[in-house]
Amino acid sequence: MLSSAESLVKTVAKKLELSDKEIKSLLSPHAILEGNIKLDDGRQFKAFRVQHNNSLGPFKGGIRFHPEVNEDEVRALALLMSLKTAAIGLPLGGGKGGVVVDPKELNDNQKEELSRKYVQLIYEKIGPHKDVPAPDVNTNGQIIDWMVDEFQKLTGDQTKASFTGKTILNGGSEGRIEATGRGGAISLREVLNHFSENSPEYSIQGFGNVGIYFAATMHELLPQAKLVAVSDSSATLVNKDGLDVEQLKKYKEAGGRFKDFELDNVLVKGSEYIISHKVDVLCFAALGDVVTTDNFGSINARYILELANGPVSDEAHDKLTDENVIIIPDIIANAGGVVVSYLEWKQNLEGEHWDLEKVRNDLEKYIVDATQKMIKNSEQTNSSLKDSATQLAIKRILKV
Ligand code: NAD
Repeated sequence: MLSSAESLVKTVAKKLELSDKEIKSLLSPHAILEGNIKLDDGRQFKAFRVQHNNSLGPFKGGIRFHPEVNEDEVRALALLMSLKTAAIGLPLGGGKGGVVVDPKELNDNQKEELSRKYVQLIYEKIGPHKDVPAPDVNTNGQIIDWMVDEFQKLTGDQTKASFTGKTILNGGSEGRIEATGRGGAISLREVLNHFSENSPEYSIQGFGNVGIYFAATMHELLPQAKLVAVSDSSATLVNKDGLDVEQLKKYKEAGGRFKDFELDNVLVKGSEYIISHKVDVLCFAALGDVVTTDNFGSINARYILELANGPVSDEAHDKLTDENVIIIPDIIANAGGVVVSYLEWKQNLEGEHWDLEKVRNDLEKYIVDATQKMIKNSEQTNSSLKDSATQLAIKRILKV
């Protein structure tokens, strides 16, 4: 992942004719904080925080608890966060954190102890104007609330702007849960409008948080678009007349698996089938590295929306764009989450709590503006949307 993220930056930097010094400054993290966290029961866990770049504002990015997280992965994710915050136009930089732990091996008290000790390790180097972490894989609002409380105890900071992704009662923002899916739908609408696509058929791989809110927002913003196929890890559901988003949402929220779904007119196929189903727009909202050089030929869509991080490999991306498939890149398509994180940070600093309508309006402005700039630059520079968004991000970071 690190070499792929670095090679993307190098390729785009070459096109921009950047100097070696500029490329080096983009690739080198500002700081890597690391240490061991020792729990009272004697177990020790390695912990990292990579602060990649802060030329536009405080470092920003999640903290994941995962047994396989490592320094290279955290470095790659921190670099991608710098690109994402810059591409979407936020006054923030990029960072990422991780603890090498399987959270299933911890009870709630031990999770709290780990979260607090993580903050004890790095608190002097983070804070509302330095580095503002958030939840990520296996971390959530409760874990962030413990971290904020620890930070407050250690520093006296009362703003709660030291972390985002807090629970609502503890300074979290309205609209955070839906933000990534909602942002993806807004970005897709802008791209489809630009190409005068009026009533597209679309499919979604993955119907979790992002997939569900994406589909619900599509229904609200583009009611003429039709969801014709959707998958989870067990099966793909297909209905050429359109699937009922609200019904699927309820089914998933009640813990249902698509392989057990029964309804007239809905076909149940294997989970891999989703990739090859013919649609106008194929949306990836599950995993990374789904489309590679091995399977890109089975794609039967004219547009791809990268709601997950890196679902289309670099090589597959180039082959698909050669075939005129338009790929809306993750750093724009899934940036809604970090936009609302930024809005949460702003609310905390200003001592305010905004209503859902204001959060949604602000989210929309960022996504519309960034998507339109990406499209315009792609046409001016004759590059793919991904290269265009990366070019704009790099230019902002380096202020060139
Ligand atoms: P989630 O765990 O809520 O949902 C993921 C869904 O994908 C689950 O329903 C799971 O069953 C399904 N899935 C897993 N393997 C699959 C397969 N092989 N085929 C089809 N479906 C499969 O996660 P999420 O929060 O919705 O995130 C989805 C993706 O978006 C992840 O890659 C995540 O890193 C990325 N992302 C999420 C956010 C966010 O704010 N939640 C922000 C940026 C990026």
